[in-house]
Amino acid sequence: MARIVMKFGGTSVADLARIRAVALRVKREADAGNEVAVVVSAMAGATDQLVGWSRDAGGAQPDQREYDNVVSTGEQVTSGLTALALQQLGLKARSWLGWQVPIETDGMHGHARIRAIPQDGLRQRLAAGEIGVVAGFQGVGPDGRITTLGRGGSDTSAVALAAALEAERCDIFTDVEGVFTSDPRVVARARKLDKITYEEMLEFASQGAKVLQTRSVEVAMNHRVRVRVLSSFNDLPGTMVVDEDEIVEKRVVSGIAYSRDDAKVTLLKVADRPGVAAAIFGPLADNAINVDMIVQNISEDGRFTDLTFTVGRGDLDRTIRVLEANRAALGYGAIKPDKDVVKVSVIGVGMRSHAGVAQLMFKTLAENGINIQVISTSEIKVSVLIAEKYAELALRALHTAYGLDAA
Ligand code: ADP
Ligand code: ASP
Ligand code: MG
Repeated sequence: MARIVMKFGGTSVADLARIRAVALRVKREADAGNEVAVVVSAMAGATDQLVGWSRDAGGAQPDQREYDNVVSTGEQVTSGLTALALQQLGLKARSWLGWQVPIETDGMHGHARIRAIPQDGLRQRLAAGEIGVVAGFQGVGPDGRITTLGRGGSDTSAVALAAALEAERCDIFTDVEGVFTSDPRVVARARKLDKITYEEMLEFASQGAKVLQTRSVEVAMNHRVRVRVLSSFNDLPGTMVVDEDEIVEKRVVSGIAYSRDDAKVTLLKVADRPGVAAAIFGPLADNAINVDMIVQNISEDGRFTDLTFTVGRGDLDRTIRVLEANRAALGYGAIKPDKDVVKVSVIGVGMRSHAGVAQLMFKTLAENGINIQVISTSEIKVSVLIAEKYAELALRALHTAYGLDAA
């Protein structure tokens, strides 16, 4: 008998038929004698609609407390419906909203972080054989108001709850059969990985593979939660996220991720003198705008240079406003924004000990006539920024070049 957390994503709870299928799957685990906590997302598309309504009612920058109040409601619906479906199968079940567990977060509305989950009540009910259906994505801030954990945040709710409950494992049920070498919806030849290391999964997630929210992988890594990603539509084994020493078959490159969430900003004719980068990136940091890739071009005349960097696409307008507001102090010639970019990243722990990974990436892109705009690397990944129209071509060509294609 084990304590387990089962998380179901939006497609898995998209309508009542699917919610009933989820209830049957949960019943199987309960019948096997396990204590089961379930975490649910909102129905597919529901959160997008709620975000749209909040913007329509509250403008481009709605009051974040009310935004959270609205966008958290999708999970209130599915947690209740799932509890009802479980009851219909003769099981004891109840729903738990974030504030009821409670899932305590900081006050960063819209992208709050979980601080603690004092889950005594829930734990007692689980021990008494009741299934707890927890609304994902939401928590409660220090001021007692509802917070949300950022898009895709139900993954983090599930992993953090598994850590707090000291659960044996956390199963993330989604609409694909596991973690693939690349997004299976874009790269038809992508292969499912049986295992992936925490570190690679973290890179995958942070470089755009939406299959797990980045923060959920961090929490899993820190608390050694055994996370499995699997399909809610069949009984295949899925992908286990594991420590590096649990992987027998070592690969240099595990997969290729992409992100359409970035935008490029180029500042033309920036003075080439000490302190300029600090002057530019300081105000962005003060406005909580994250900068990812950065390149500074060489200066032709020793006086001026161009500086290119990327920010989240959703932050682009704000970035331009901040730069314009500081124009006098920064003294650049012009701002050139570009939203039509995609970041493609090759990821693998084997890169630590193998040379030539980046070279193969550059060569493959060159052979396909794809120009690289910005490059960045870490120990286990190489990322390039390219024009968005080449995204599919680049992914497929790289997937083949690194020998990842399914037979
Ligand atoms: P859920 O609603 O279950 O949380 P998401 O849409 O958030 O599901 O995440 C699953 C999606 O992630 C898949 O449908 C797939 O298109 C996408 N994805 C991107 N990269 C990968 C990858 N490397 N492996 C698996 N899925 C991926
Ligand atoms: N429903 C939320 C979203 O769409 C959280 C989640 O699905 O994980 O972002
Ligand atoms: Mg998700």
